[in-house]
Amino acid sequence: MCALRPPPPEPTDHAFSPAEGGLICPPCASGAELLPLALPTLKVWRFLLGETWPTVRRLRLDAHTHRQLTTCLHLYTTYLLERELRSAQFLREILTHSR
Ligand SMILES: [Zn+2]
Repeated sequence: MCALRPPPPEPTDHAFSPAEGGLICPPCASGAELLPLALPTLKVWRFLLGETWPTVRRLRLDAHTHRQLTTCLHLYTTYLLERELRSAQFLREILTHSR
């Protein structure tokens, strides 16, 4: 699943690299400042890629997985647009104040 080399034999934690446009395995990620993604988060990631919206919307995520995926999406959109999204900040404020 690494964007830079063939996948390791066993599923493992990875990291997300906006610059590489995908997941980076631990050997490739060493020394770089990347967003760590735990194996359960990667499993949800794969699930999201292969399912339809009616199935995805029923998914219930634990707080850690939700936070990792949200951070990943935020980093990637910020990287692609080369600036912070005001709408992303707005959504974070709503979510923070609705808890
Ligand atoms: Zn790699």
